[in-house]
Amino acid sequence: MSINQSIKPATAEVKEHLMIGGCDTVELAKKYGTPLYVIDEATLRGICREYKAAFKDYKNIRMMYASKALCTSAIVRILDEEGFGFDTVSAGEIYTVFKAGINMSHVLFNGNNKSVSEINLALDCRVGRFSVDNFYEAELLNRLAGEKGVKIDVLLRITPGIECHTHDYIQTGQVDSKFGFDLSQVDEIVTLITQNYKSLNLKGLHAHIGSQIFELKSYYDEVDILVKEIARINNKFALKLDEMNIGGGLGVKYTDNDTPPSVTELAESITEAMHKYGVDIPTIYIEPGRSIVSTSGVTLYTVGSSKQVPNGRKYVAVDGGMADNPRPSMYQAEYFAEAANKPLAEKKETVTIAGRYCESGDILINEITLPELEAGDILCVYNTGAYNYSMASNYNRVEKPAMVLVNNSHSDIIVYRETLDDLISHDNIPDRLSKK
Ligand SMILES: *Cc1c(COP(=O)(O)O)cnc(C)c1O
Repeated sequence: MSINQSIKPATAEVKEHLMIGGCDTVELAKKYGTPLYVIDEATLRGICREYKAAFKDYKNIRMMYASKALCTSAIVRILDEEGFGFDTVSAGEIYTVFKAGINMSHVLFNGNNKSVSEINLALDCRVGRFSVDNFYEAELLNRLAGEKGVKIDVLLRITPGIECHTHDYIQTGQVDSKFGFDLSQVDEIVTLITQNYKSLNLKGLHAHIGSQIFELKSYYDEVDILVKEIARINNKFALKLDEMNIGGGLGVKYTDNDTPPSVTELAESITEAMHKYGVDIPTIYIEPGRSIVSTSGVTLYTVGSSKQVPNGRKYVAVDGGMADNPRPSMYQAEYFAEAANKPLAEKKETVTIAGRYCESGDILINEITLPELEAGDILCVYNTGAYNYSMASNYNRVEKPAMVLVNNSHSDIIVYRETLDDLISHDNIPDRLSKK
């Protein structure tokens, strides 16, 4: 079984308490406070190795971690050690990767509205590839690269017109999308780049069809379209495009309802579609984000108040919620949880896990059967490694949680908990308001 097909991190064990990475989660909560993001290093490295093993027969594969799923300096270092490059979408992600000492030729800059200052930073850092999203940006990239006297390697982001069955907000490959060129616009942009934009060197095509994908056929169809399109462009324009970036999107198992394919199955359908044409596309880029970091992460919360609605449901509130995990309120995402301090206690109560934020929509888990919970219990929510910390906010002026890395019974802080002073550190009181 692939790591992305499991709800819990590979090292999760039930003893008197729930253990992860050999660490007692109740002790972690005590030592570092809650809410606490916990990342299991063995699970993270394990899935990276699964990806490498699955594609080992395809020589020209380039694994690019989609850093928007979780981008911190230590996580970037681990992914680099595992041989991954980075798909980045902002100055902040590029800067994090750069400061972590990563070889910037392994970095791709992607996004539908890159700003002038972000592009200039990417050019100064010598980012290896730029994904060109639209006509405006092609002109801008050409001008800014020209001003610095450099020629940059680019991929064209296209929308292949594939609908995959996932939430509307995380579906990106359909024709009506804010990302990329429609297939009918490809000839025009290729002509512009090859004839007018002398600072751009077109290397290939890029697509990303969505996220939390369970259907392998979507990938097969995507590769099919990209292969044909590259062959058509090469033929019509006498070019030698030899790179194909198929994006990320492989799903993970948040609850028992989720049935993602394995990494091996993903690799098989991609290579099968490649070989069908007998074409040689020397380089395939793949950009997994969620499937790399989701399963390695859990969030620990402390239980506080409870409320039994007369003749209705029972709410149990924890000390975090929509600001550290916006996915349930944004996408109706579902999660699984267990009582970390009494994992063996009989599960006999069906409750709704509420967050502490001032929104009725701040519900982490709608209905889940757990042991009877009381104030002070520690709740472990699984599969929170991706798109939790990276989407976290300071809503209600609450400090963002700390993140620890666990491995071999050892824990290290990789993101410090914000302090109250951090929260006001960017505030300014204009002089005229300080005069009382
Ligand atoms: C978000 C994104 C990814 C990663 O998607 P996951 O579902 O997290 O694997 C990859 N490529 C691009 C272009 C993206 O925008």
